[in-house]
Amino acid sequence: MIDLNHRSGFVYGRAADAPPPLGARINALLDDALVAERAGQRPRDYLGASRIGEPCARRLVYEFRKTPVDPGKDFEGRTLRIFEAGHVFEDLAIRWLRLAGFDLRTQTREGGQFGFETAGGRIRGHVDGVIVDGPALGLTWPVLWEHKALKASSWNDTAKKGVQVSKPVYYGQLQIYMAYMGLGSALFTALNKDSCELYHEHVLFDPATAQELSDKAVAVLRAADAGELLPRIATNPDFYLCRFCPFSARCWGEPRPGNAPVERFSGERPEARA
Ligand code: SF4
Repeated sequence: MIDLNHRSGFVYGRAADAPPPLGARINALLDDALVAERAGQRPRDYLGASRIGEPCARRLVYEFRKTPVDPGKDFEGRTLRIFEAGHVFEDLAIRWLRLAGFDLRTQTREGGQFGFETAGGRIRGHVDGVIVDGPALGLTWPVLWEHKALKASSWNDTAKKGVQVSKPVYYGQLQIYMAYMGLGSALFTALNKDSCELYHEHVLFDPATAQELSDKAVAVLRAADAGELLPRIATNPDFYLCRFCPFSARCWGEPRPGNAPVERFSGERPEARA
């Protein structure tokens, strides 16, 4: 008779010298593969228009110059999985909108992504799509379409406050895209990754905001060309944006001038500053 409860050496739980659990080892393999795949990709040699809404222009200079991030601040495999899952959610949202009668175009006739470039190709943007026709909702077609898949707390905040207040970087992205695509409005769609609830917001083109963002992009390119940094967005590294910035240690250790907060390129309310 077998006795499964008293096998020699069998323990419930894990001995101290046992290898990590199977799941952890598999995840490590997946993460390593994703990180290696990303490392093999050609880095951007342009300023992505989706980043121009970033409140700190100094951070954009670091990004554009491909400055190495602080140790331990590289994207992990889990973050890369989140990015990729976002594309899958976007494909679903595209399918659902088309099913409901929206003529949503996501590719040019040649099969490429819709997009634009300016400043001799040094600023480029790729849009999720353009809706050229659809149900009678009082919208004037065509409209830019942008999609984001958000975790529940982030989605709830966006649905409550609207994209301009809740997600100023995305709002800036919409404005820059509308400016360069010659579109008068955008439909911003946010998907709640927990519940698959959808939030849609019609955003009008705001020329003043687009101009300010365009000016910021030019300032970033000029600073990068000159080997200069733009002023920090805050006066101490405890500012919330700096705490989450992958260049924080480098930035606050830089023996360079330009530590004063900068009003012109700030995306947040002055009272939010440190
Ligand atoms: S640490 Fe702060 S000031 Fe420096 S680049 Fe990052 S966000 Fe800007």
